[in-house]
Amino acid sequence: MLVKQTLIQPLLPGMIDSHFHALSLREKGLDPVELLARCFQEGFRAALDVAVDTDDFEERRALLAPFTGVFLTAGISPFRAGSPEIGGRLQRLEAQLASPRVLAVGEIGIDRHWNYGTPEGQRELFTAQVEMAAAAGLPIVVHNRAADGELLGLLSERRPPRGGIMHCFSSDYPAALQFIERGFLISFAGNVTYKGSEPIQEAARRIPGDSLLVETDSPYLAPLPHRGRPCDPSLVSQTYAFVAQLRGITIEELVERVWVNFSRLFCLG
Ligand SMILES: [Zn+2]
Repeated sequence: MLVKQTLIQPLLPGMIDSHFHALSLREKGLDPVELLARCFQEGFRAALDVAVDTDDFEERRALLAPFTGVFLTAGISPFRAGSPEIGGRLQRLEAQLASPRVLAVGEIGIDRHWNYGTPEGQRELFTAQVEMAAAAGLPIVVHNRAADGELLGLLSERRPPRGGIMHCFSSDYPAALQFIERGFLISFAGNVTYKGSEPIQEAARRIPGDSLLVETDSPYLAPLPHRGRPCDPSLVSQTYAFVAQLRGITIEELVERVWVNFSRLFCLG
């Protein structure tokens, strides 16, 4: 199906961003507080600020404290695999998971594109955090780069009891179904709108509606027609519009569907 996307879709009440990075927005010269204030003025319901490391947790928490609709994750991404102080980081993570604002462990995962650390180092860091999520009763947010088979294997050996999110889904429909079987929601970012993303688009069109989320992963992966610019949470509206068109439903229907899925996963009222 050909989806044309040149129009700018404004934010609609009830939209969420299931994955963004507040401090990275600031590193790109954007003001996350101002951007989020505008999103919530337009009716944003929630946003999830996702950790890549434990060092900046207090900074994130303080920065985002004014927003009751912004939740946090805590976790160590695979880019820290092989770091010498990983034991200390895992200890800090355990303390951070007790914070009431923390909804999930993430982003954690496997990256076989950049090959951080060693293959075993990445797997150990991932499985240690899957165990911590299980102990804390939290879902996980998974980063998957060129690692479908490996992650499917790891998640079969130790299925996270609260499930989680496959973030910035970049694989295909059959892989999506296998992650869904293991208790995961599939979250689509701006790259679903790009030319050459047909396998991702097929997944976005065909997976069951109760497995669907959208995100920005901002400041990365701005959706069309903003590709190449720093992304911010407000641009999630373009991805909503694109995915709704793929699925042949209204944007309002998708907004409601995504909220139901997000609030179910995180037990929000
Ligand atoms: Zn991310």
